[in-house]
Amino acid sequence: MKQEAPIGIVGGGLAGLAAALAAARRGRRVILWESASLGRDKVCGEFLSPEVDLDMQALGCGDWVDALAPAPMRDVTLIGARSSRVSLRIPGPPARSVTRAALEAYLASRARKEGATLLERAPVREIAPVQGGLVRVRGGDREELVRGVILAFGKRSTLDAPLELPRAGSSDGFVALKTYLAPQAALDTDVELYVIRGGYVGLNRVEDGRIGVCALLEGDARADWETLARRAEEIPQLARRLASLGDPCSRVRGLARFGFGAQAVARKDRRTGSVLLFAGDAARMIPSFTGDGMAVALRSGRLAAEALSTPDPVTTYKSTYARAFHVRFALAGALHGLFFQPSVFSALAPLVGRSPRLVERLYALTRGS
Ligand SMILES: Cc1cc2nc3c(=O)[nH]c(=O)nc-3n(C[C@H](O)[C@H](O)[C@H](O)COP(=O)(O)OP(=O)(O)OC[C@H]3O[C@@H](n4cnc5c(N)ncnc54)[C@H](O)[C@@H]3O)c2cc1C
Repeated sequence: MKQEAPIGIVGGGLAGLAAALAAARRGRRVILWESASLGRDKVCGEFLSPEVDLDMQALGCGDWVDALAPAPMRDVTLIGARSSRVSLRIPGPPARSVTRAALEAYLASRARKEGATLLERAPVREIAPVQGGLVRVRGGDREELVRGVILAFGKRSTLDAPLELPRAGSSDGFVALKTYLAPQAALDTDVELYVIRGGYVGLNRVEDGRIGVCALLEGDARADWETLARRAEEIPQLARRLASLGDPCSRVRGLARFGFGAQAVARKDRRTGSVLLFAGDAARMIPSFTGDGMAVALRSGRLAAEALSTPDPVTTYKSTYARAFHVRFALAGALHGLFFQPSVFSALAPLVGRSPRLVERLYALTRGS
């Protein structure tokens, strides 16, 4: 009997791995190409919104909290200039923090158990729609004809230009950096988020007790520790905090320039009928201060895989994607503009901070609930 063509997935981050798991659990053959290794460290604040639990259950990973022992996160404080601050007590189940390396290694191992083929060090160089609704994917040393491709290649990819994404060729935006500090000192709350000019610095513990430091900086700042230490002087509390924590205990990772604009959700090639669905940051990245990008990646990867088993994947995915994310993208985009101006933040903080219900509501809306 002739075998059905597999689903192709480009990118082995959270969106790609969630898509691989969801498709494999539906009995589909899956081939995933990842340009580097799976389960590696990434630039990320590693704050996992509570709603990811629903996706983990749906992916058959209901044991993830027991397996990964993520640090629970209940209290978040946003701190700006002149001691301005807004506090949030996360309502309902806590958020969690776990290193990307551990989370992605766990998902990759689950996807393999479900029968997905995951190729590492296999950058995809070509995606070409061909007759019969198929797509030829060429990556690493493998070429495959697949039925339906999920593009989950993150914030920047060599495929941006061939796929004519709006971000291809744009150089404005943000840089980011990430490292860990030894766990000797305590934080005042589970997450401390310091608002600096054109960005922020976030600190929170991960599962092994280390404190993750993740910063987003506007413009063409250098993504290194010296730059961060210099920028931290804008907020004396932050400068004191970093001094009390000491130097990084792991390598400082930088992320080249990227932005938060919408890219693409779903395309059908007019000539061949071949389907391309975009998931995670490849579709659109939610402003990172929300701490919701990983939740969006997991959910969109899963929705894309589910859409591929419907008669009209493009229409299905466009509508489930809009329902799941439009509110949170709109609100996060609006807050992002205010948030990155320390003078606006310190003016609004005393007003907003007086109403914990309002803070909770804004938090919930940036999670789509
Ligand atoms: C400063 C900062 C802080 C953040 N903090 C948080 C936070 O606290 N909480 C939160 O939820 N989110 C946070 N985010 C957002 C979150 O990190 C992203 O939304 C999430 O990583 C998206 O996952 P993804 O799978 O779409 O992309 P990625 O994890 O980037 O995965 C994409 C993968 O595709 C691969 N790839 C690229 N091109 C190719 C190719 N041609 N062939 C094969 N493979 C390819 C890459 O190697 C990569 O592994 C933060 C982001 C930033 C920048």
